[in-house]
Amino acid sequence: MNKLRPFFHLKSSRHVLVMLALITSLSVAAPVLSIATALTFMPKLPGQLYWGVISLSAIIPLLIAPPIALGGLSILRLLTITIDRLDNYVRYDALTGVLSRVYLLGQMREILAKGGSFLMIDADHFKSINDTYGHDVGDEALKCLSEVLKTFAPNHALVGRLGGEEFGVFLPEMTSLEAGRVADNLCAAMRRSGEVIAGHRISLTISIGVAQHRPDSTLEQTLKLADEALYHAKRTGRDRYHVATASAALQAAKTGSIHGGQDRRSRHPATQLAQVGMSARSIPHATSRLNA
Ligand code: GH3
Ligand code: MG
Ligand code: MG
Repeated sequence: MNKLRPFFHLKSSRHVLVMLALITSLSVAAPVLSIATALTFMPKLPGQLYWGVISLSAIIPLLIAPPIALGGLSILRLLTITIDRLDNYVRYDALTGVLSRVYLLGQMREILAKGGSFLMIDADHFKSINDTYGHDVGDEALKCLSEVLKTFAPNHALVGRLGGEEFGVFLPEMTSLEAGRVADNLCAAMRRSGEVIAGHRISLTISIGVAQHRPDSTLEQTLKLADEALYHAKRTGRDRYHVATASAALQAAKTGSIHGGQDRRSRHPATQLAQVGMSARSIPHATSRLNA
């Protein structure tokens, strides 16, 4: 069906005209050829009658086919435009233009087997921006945040909005060490770009939880791990990132949650790798929120 899609994908009037010409030619050629073939078995047919029948077999479809085809093609074009709009609506977040939650998680599911790391990103003290400057300035701040993610995440990264002031970035085939560097860059870029938004000195910052996907984990486990790492970054001061350690990931894979560990801030990839067991507890609303 996907192979046929370009054929039926009537995006412009040019496509409609080409299809119309094609259908008209076929609907004229088919009866003319079949009638001409049939008439060859009647050798005694007078020439005038022969050409009269042939002309009729061309004129009738020529009169009937174009209006019917045009009607059908117009409906098909309308459907194409509607499907494209719905497709965009499902794929992209309307406010920020990054991928929607559904599409981001769907894309991740497709490429997860190759490995990679996930960054769960949350704007710090976002509610106070809305409360102080109004919802429209809050919206501008979200657009600024998503611009930072689009600009400073690597080209092959998948950037999406998970909901509210939470975003997700999937870094295909990246280890948590490399993802930690990306997260550090994103925090720094947000600090710079979030100083002034819509003419207000807002100083928007973000916190990031980083989790490397393990081959024996599910997408939900990796998201949960990133969420708990984000929670850790929030709890230890915000405007920072935290990388879920390998042992935490192992534990999450075994038990579905993480327990124990120290309450430590991790800004440097080297110390993140050295960490054994991060401080994180199950966040009551996390599981339902993370179910893709
Ligand atoms: P924290 O640092 O702990 O994350 O605090 P926070 O204030 O960012 O978190 P909280 O969950 O208390 O508030 C999130 C706010 O984000 C509340 C909600 O009104 C706001 N928000 C969610 N979606 C939108 C949106 O599309 N536009 C605007 N302007 N605000 C939004
Ligand atoms: Mg939040
Ligand atoms: Mg927040």
